[in-house]
Amino acid sequence: MDYETIIGLEVHVELATASKVFCSCPVEFGAEPNTRVCPVCLGLPGTLPVLNKRAVEFAVRAALALNCEVHPTSQFARKNYFYPDMPKNYQISQYDRPLATGGYVEFEVDGRTVRVGIRRVHMEEDTGKLLHEGVEGGSLVDFNRAGVPLLEIVSEPDIRSPEEARLYLQELRAILLYTGVSDVRMEEGSLRCDANVSIRPRGSREWGTLTEVKNMNSFRSVERALAYEVQRQREVLESGGRVVRETRHWDEGRGVTFSSRSKEEAHDYRYFPEPDLLPLVLDPAWVREIGEKMPELPAQRRRRLVEEYGLPAYDAGVLTASKSLGDLFDRTVKLYDDAKAVSNWLMGEVSRVLRERDLDIERSPLTPENLAAMLRLIDDGTISGKIAKSVLEEMVDTGKEPRAIVEEKGLVQISDEGQLLPLVRRIIEENPGPVADYRGGKKKALGFLVGQVMKETKGKANPQLVNELFRRELG
Ligand code: ADP
Ligand code: MG
Ligand code: ZN
Repeated sequence: MDYETIIGLEVHVELATASKVFCSCPVEFGAEPNTRVCPVCLGLPGTLPVLNKRAVEFAVRAALALNCEVHPTSQFARKNYFYPDMPKNYQISQYDRPLATGGYVEFEVDGRTVRVGIRRVHMEEDTGKLLHEGVEGGSLVDFNRAGVPLLEIVSEPDIRSPEEARLYLQELRAILLYTGVSDVRMEEGSLRCDANVSIRPRGSREWGTLTEVKNMNSFRSVERALAYEVQRQREVLESGGRVVRETRHWDEGRGVTFSSRSKEEAHDYRYFPEPDLLPLVLDPAWVREIGEKMPELPAQRRRRLVEEYGLPAYDAGVLTASKSLGDLFDRTVKLYDDAKAVSNWLMGEVSRVLRERDLDIERSPLTPENLAAMLRLIDDGTISGKIAKSVLEEMVDTGKEPRAIVEEKGLVQISDEGQLLPLVRRIIEENPGPVADYRGGKKKALGFLVGQVMKETKGKANPQLVNELFRRELG
C-alpha cells in the first residue's frame, strides 16, 4: 500500500521583549532560578495582569510576515490545567478569538515552491520549568520563564514529508529572525515544536488518525522523529492494527517515539475568556504602520540577491538562511563589487573559520571593511588566495586589518622574478622525474613542481608567476 504523509506543526516561539507579557519582570535566559519573578508571574492572589504593548507589536509583526489576517479584536482566555510548572493553575492564552488567522509560508523543495497554510497565530504566556536532574525525591521548579511572551504558530496539515517539515521550520525561523521578534534558538528553548502526524492511503480523502510528537530539540530531530513516526504508523496499519490518537515523546538517544499520555481534548482545559483582561482591540492605523515598517523578509532577500547581484539561486539561499551572513554580504558588496567572489568567501572560508571557532558573525570581530580590504589585497597581487585564508583566520581571531596582518607576519606575496627564478631552477634540478614526466606530456607534473616552490616559500610565491617561470624554463 502506498501511503501519503500528513504533517501539521505547532510552533511556540518566545518573543524577545525586554520584560514579560503581563508583568515587568525581565526576560533573561540562564538567570539564577526564581530571581526573575514577582507576585504577578507567580500568580499570587490579588494580582492583575497588564499586557505588554511591545509583545503585541512583535506578535502583529510576525503575523503579518506570515501573511495572516490580523484581527481588530482578539480575546485572551484561561487554559486551565494543573501542573506544577504553572503557578496559577491556568495559562493565559488565546482560544476561539486568536490574534491572527489564515496565513502561509512558502519555501523551495527541489526547485518546487511549497506553500504551507498558517491556521492561526496567537499570544500566550510561557510556563515555568521543572528540573528533575540531580534532585532526590522530587523535582525543583524555576519560575523565571513563567510569563515570558510566547507566540503559538499553528500550521495547516499541508506538510507532506519529514523533510518538508524541517524546511518549513527553517523558513519560519528565518522569518522570525528577520522580523527581529525572537532570537529563535531551539537549543535554548526559544523555539519549540510539536508535530502532528498521520498517514492515509494515497488518494484517500479522509484523514488518518494523528499522533502528536513532542520533545524534539533540533530541526534535525524533528525530521528524524517524524520519519520514525511515519514508519511506525505504517507498520501498525500494515499489521492490521489501528493508530491510537495520543501524545508520543521522542527519545533522541534511542531514536524512537514512545507513548506518554492520551492527548487532551479542548474541553479538558475548560477554556473561558480571561476576566482580568479586556479584549485586545488593535488600532488599524497601528497595525498598518507595523506592516509598512516591515524589514526585508528572507524570500525578498533571496530574490534581491539573484536580481541585483546576479548570484545563483543556491548562493542566495545559503546567504539568506543565516541573517547575519546575509547582512555581512550586503555590507561587503557595497565596498567590493565582485558579488560572486564575496559570496564564495562567505559560503566557504568565512563559514568554515567561524564554525571551527564556534562563533557567530555577530560575536566575531570580522568586519565588512576588513573582508573587502582582504579581497583587494588578493586582486592587486599582494597576497595569494591561499595566504588570504590565514589572513582571514587572523582577522577573525584579532579583528586586525588585513594589511597590518600581512606586514606583521611577512606574508606579502613574492612576485619578484629575480627572487623566484633561482628557486624554480633548483627545483627543476632536484626533481628530474617529474621534469621528465612534464616534458613527456604529463601536464599534471607541473602542479607538483609549482607545489614544491610554494612549499619552500611557505605559500608566499605568486603561483601564476611560478607557473609561468616553469613553463619558460622547461620550454
Ligand atoms: P487542536 O490542537 O486545537 O485540537 P487540531 O488537532 O485540529 O487542533 O490541529 C492541531 C495541529 O494538527 C495543526 O497543526 C494541524 O495542522 C494538525 N493536524 C490536523 N489534522 C491533522 C492530520 N490528520 N494529520 C496531521 N496533522 C494534522
Ligand atoms: Mg493542539
Ligand atoms: Zn513577574
